[in-house]
Amino acid sequence: MNPIRYISTRGTQPPLSFFDAVMTGLARDGGLLIPDRIPNVTEQLRDWEDLDYPSLAFEIMRLFADEPGDARLRELIAAAYATFEHPEIAPIRKVGGLHVLELFHGPTLAFKDIALQFLGRLFEEILEERDARLNILAATSGDTGSAAIAGVRGQPRIHIFVMHPHGRVSPLQERQMTSVLDANVFNLAVKGSFDDCQLIMKTLFRDLPFKDAYALGSVNSVNWSRVLSQIVYYFHAALRVRAETGADQVQFAVPTGNFGDILAGWYAKRMGLPVRRLILATNENDILARFFNTGTYARGAVVPSINPSMDIQVASNFERWLYYKVERDPQAVSRLMTQFAREGRMEIPRDVRGRVDVEIVAGSSDTKHTLETIRRYHETHNYLLDPHTAAGIYVAEQYNELDDPMICLATAHPAKFPEAIATATGQDLAHHPILDAFGQAPTRCEVVDNNVEAVRAYLAARAR
Ligand SMILES: *Cc1c(COP(=O)(O)O)cnc(C)c1O
Repeated sequence: MNPIRYISTRGTQPPLSFFDAVMTGLARDGGLLIPDRIPNVTEQLRDWEDLDYPSLAFEIMRLFADEPGDARLRELIAAAYATFEHPEIAPIRKVGGLHVLELFHGPTLAFKDIALQFLGRLFEEILEERDARLNILAATSGDTGSAAIAGVRGQPRIHIFVMHPHGRVSPLQERQMTSVLDANVFNLAVKGSFDDCQLIMKTLFRDLPFKDAYALGSVNSVNWSRVLSQIVYYFHAALRVRAETGADQVQFAVPTGNFGDILAGWYAKRMGLPVRRLILATNENDILARFFNTGTYARGAVVPSINPSMDIQVASNFERWLYYKVERDPQAVSRLMTQFAREGRMEIPRDVRGRVDVEIVAGSSDTKHTLETIRRYHETHNYLLDPHTAAGIYVAEQYNELDDPMICLATAHPAKFPEAIATATGQDLAHHPILDAFGQAPTRCEVVDNNVEAVRAYLAARAR
């Protein structure tokens, strides 16, 4: 079989190798890079049941990555997950009737570490091999920034520029990013929303002469390697829960922002993992929940919430899913995305059952329900949920009509959101030694205007 190559959802980018796809981030035609086929692994599932996390990660990633070669890939994976504080990497806790998949045992305590500890090492590998340099430009609603910084801090071939919405990430998240004082780390507080940051990022990536001149790279989930790393924990969790419960299929509930996490679950299902359905949860910023219930994808204003990593109205990975939904027709994707950019909305035809999709169902949780869920799980199960995880669990509870085991993704450690935990429980319960250690650590951050040219100039003056 030929190795997988990466093509664009908009169809006009020549196919890329795995390394080139990782370095390119956003496709040069403005689309997203996707594998040219999805391997089916149904036959391998039995053999994979007993593998530990790094071994399973190796088996899955090598299907999509013929570079850097098996032995080196194994080493990169081992090094990435050696930074996790839990021996199982992504353990599962039985809480009430649910299986909670804890994805927050990495160095910055959010699920982003699973992809970014690996991607940081992958970048280093590629840059060494090519004797090259890289300027990472990232937009963060909170957790991506610190996880990306933790993945590349101190690397001599990389400068990282992280934009966050000024005053809209939690104080703790902000300190987690801005207290990293390595010379290759630059934090920018943009006077706008996360969507504004993401738009600036995409605009600069689409400026191909600029992108090439400054060797711009992406750590956002537009980078295929992020989705790839995340496919692994869907397999790891489903195989374990199946073995434990004897069930044929499982369900996953996923708190969603940029659609990157749940998209990895969707790929896992397409690869043959027996997933009955994926349950997509949003907060008040519910463009995706509205879409999966009505077929209309229409942008609204972004409302700040207690689960800021879900405060997104334009989810970049939606385009990857859309590509498959329109039968892999890149012209249809381009047409719909152009229409969305112009009018702020698009309509997707429903299927014969009147549903937008049979694999994904969706709902939303507002502040009241999220806080109530945190309080209830603490009181009933003595288990603390962070507000993103709680939103996912609240929506999962609304979809409890099937018997298949429900695996709920816990995307952040509760100690990252102590205000929400205190409001919900009335107690100061959410602590973690890594976060408590920040205290009054010195920080470095630049406030910039919500404007592409301001960010361009900042980057040009400080790039590698
Ligand atoms: C990033 C993030 C999410 C949303 O994930 P997407 O891949 O953007 O859908 C949910 N919860 C937490 C804690 C996050 O950091």
